[in-house]
Amino acid sequence: MKATAFGYARPRDVSEAVTLLAEGGEGAKPAAGTQSLGPMLNLRLVQPTLLVDLRHIDELGAATETPDAVTFGACVTHASIEDGRVPDPTRGFMREIASNIAYRAVRNRGTIGGSLAHADPAADWPSALVLLSAVAIVAGPGGRREIPVERFVTGLFETTLKAGEILVAVRVPRLSARARCGYWKFCRKMGEFPQAIGGALDDPERGAARAVMGAVRGAPYVVADARALLHKPDDAACGAVADAAGIGDDVYARQLHAVALKRAVNRLTQ
Ligand SMILES: Cc1cc2nc3c(=O)[nH]c(=O)nc-3n(C[C@H](O)[C@H](O)[C@H](O)COP(=O)(O)OP(=O)(O)OC[C@H]3O[C@@H](n4cnc5c(N)ncnc54)[C@H](O)[C@@H]3O)c2cc1C
Repeated sequence: MKATAFGYARPRDVSEAVTLLAEGGEGAKPAAGTQSLGPMLNLRLVQPTLLVDLRHIDELGAATETPDAVTFGACVTHASIEDGRVPDPTRGFMREIASNIAYRAVRNRGTIGGSLAHADPAADWPSALVLLSAVAIVAGPGGRREIPVERFVTGLFETTLKAGEILVAVRVPRLSARARCGYWKFCRKMGEFPQAIGGALDDPERGAARAVMGAVRGAPYVVADARALLHKPDDAACGAVADAAGIGDDVYARQLHAVALKRAVNRLTQ
């Protein structure tokens, strides 16, 4: 099957993109790396009348640094992060995440903002960015607003983006020099979406001890105060997180997620 016919627009800045989306109404859809959108178009799961291509907007392709954070434009690709072409505020953690997404052809085109806006529960960035306490920056007809990623992703392929809004950037706080991160995912085959994700962050200087369980049935599940878990990531503690994440009724998924989380926490000490 192939996509239905649609119009194509290539705005030069964010306000032009927002105007095009407003004018196009329900039929208008933003496009970034098209790594998820392309298959959805071809399967006719989405049938837009207008695609608004965000990739030629300079602001969305840039990353800016301050002493406290790095702000990644929504169209920064996984490959740019993998290759270190943009700064990494997480001392290599984001680079590791990016370099293990799918395979290089997908990473060359897929974007951090496209991944977050798509909110596939099995995708890496939603879980990793929640772990890092990142903030989503959104622009729409009503101006700009900021939402912690923890609240931006609300469920299975669901976000707080309103009609006509686009994700402009993601701001990631800079980790302190002693911070440690751990991440583990189970993929049936290399390059496939994971079946279970575990993440852990210990940054005592910033008072952050967090854990995340991803590839669950909805938004990534966050343990905002994970001090006890990071101290003793035993089977019972990790299983309890799986229960709290709503997958306790599936014995296989519970075990897989609990082990992913345990391995992520254990990576903190490596
Ligand atoms: C074979 C394959 C394997 C993959 N494996 C993995 C994996 O292991 N882990 C992983 O994390 N991902 C994986 N992906 C997904 C990949 O990371 C995509 O890049 C990502 O999901 C979507 O990003 P994109 O830039 O291509 O967005 P697009 O496909 O262009 O857009 C996706 C959706 O988001 C919307 N959108 C895009 N950008 C914005 C924006 N700035 N504001 C508002 N809405 C926007 C679009 O309208 C669309 O609905 C895989 C993809 C493929 C094809």
